[in-house]
Amino acid sequence: MAEHTSSYRANGDNGDEGNTEGDLNAWKHRAPYKVHDSDPNFHARYEASCHCGKIRYQLSREKPLDSKYCHCTTCQKLHGAPFQWAAIFHKEDINFTHGHSDLGWYESSEKTTVHKLPCKVSCAYCRTPIMDEGRNMILLFPTLINFKSPEDRKNFDPSCHMFYTRRILDINDGKPKWSGISNDSELIEDSPEQDKKRKREEDAAEGNDKKS
Ligand SMILES: [Zn+2]
Ligand SMILES: [Zn+2]
Repeated sequence: MAEHTSSYRANGDNGDEGNTEGDLNAWKHRAPYKVHDSDPNFHARYEASCHCGKIRYQLSREKPLDSKYCHCTTCQKLHGAPFQWAAIFHKEDINFTHGHSDLGWYESSEKTTVHKLPCKVSCAYCRTPIMDEGRNMILLFPTLINFKSPEDRKNFDPSCHMFYTRRILDINDGKPKWSGISNDSELIEDSPEQDKKRKREEDAAEGNDKKS
């Protein structure tokens, strides 16, 4: 069962072997992965960990820039769940305290495990999805955060649903529901009326811009 013994592949073994000083390792010195650098200006507000505990990180920001549910089929497949819950942060807001060498990457368009943005980041050992790393921001999965109070959890309440047309189940929570990407598709189902009206007005103004 040789295949089984090699199934634990972390980033140290992701195709950048023999290139320890090359560009492929530059990520170790940049946000969001600047681990092991103790920074007196970084004040940990939240602690989070993957299922096995190899990956642990802190967050300094009290509230994410935004938080959303995504119902797209890629999220369904990669998370093994009906939908995904993600919170947006700056790369400087996160500090990995453990598991630097246990992170695994996956870039879904080229289907490569080399670190290439935007990519999915997971624990290479227990496979817990950690975050999506974009070029400028990170979308992390708040289910990893060890919330200490319902108020803390409330800071991560999603503002909307995306790709709601792909949903596995209806969620009648009265939040805005975008047919595709947020702010750039149709508001459908039980989206708040005032949001639908605002979107119609914005679309009409944009239409006028194009005509003039
Ligand atoms: Zn893990
Ligand atoms: Zn998605």
